[in-house]
Amino acid sequence: MPRFDEERKEMVALLRQRGITDERIIAAMSRVERHLFVKEPFINRAYDDTALPIAKQQTISQPYTVAFMTQELDPQPGQKVLEIGTGSGYQAVILAELGARVFTIERHMDLFLQARKLFERLGYRIATLCGDGSVGWSEFAPYDRIVVTAAAPEVPEPLLNQLAEGGKLVIPVGGLDMQKLFSITKTADGFDRKEVYGFKFVPLIGKKGWNGK
Ligand code: SAM
Repeated sequence: MPRFDEERKEMVALLRQRGITDERIIAAMSRVERHLFVKEPFINRAYDDTALPIAKQQTISQPYTVAFMTQELDPQPGQKVLEIGTGSGYQAVILAELGARVFTIERHMDLFLQARKLFERLGYRIATLCGDGSVGWSEFAPYDRIVVTAAAPEVPEPLLNQLAEGGKLVIPVGGLDMQKLFSITKTADGFDRKEVYGFKFVPLIGKKGWNGK
């Protein structure tokens, strides 16, 4: 039996129990081998519902957080999705599995290079950039969906500007200790903002993030 199949089934069963109802996300998370995205010492914990350390003191997000944010984002096949905070690359691959055209930005060169290599090895066509994602990626804007996987002190204006009409931004915003997850939809006459959940994320560092002044 292929490695960790049972563990992955258990992880997905827990996601269902915790209220993830989008079957496309359940299917994608059943397929993607999370153990390929974690460091060797943590491989046996790859399917625990917990964040795990990756390089540069960063983390691969907890499976529930990935599922919850993706469900809130609701990406549709063919849509252009920008992710800020590539990290291990796991979230980007889940988005690609859902049929999105994925663009992802990471500020740490090591993580960027590792993720890019892994995407290639696994056969995903994901556009990658090493840089400050708090200012978005204007070259390919507008995006149908933008997801930020690190916490910002406030919603970065460039990300709002790079949303297509009808597009959605999912972003954790708040202090360094605790944040609220916002889901912001661009309408014909402005933005609809809803608060969805309290989470704890690593900080978004950058011009429009922390230490940006
Ligand atoms: N999506 C990732 C995954 O699936 O592994 C989770 C990554 S971790 C929770 C957040 C990532 O955001 C870290 O890798 C961190 O270096 C990155 N980050 C923080 N500020 C950033 C910025 N301004 N631009 C791009 N990446 C940033």
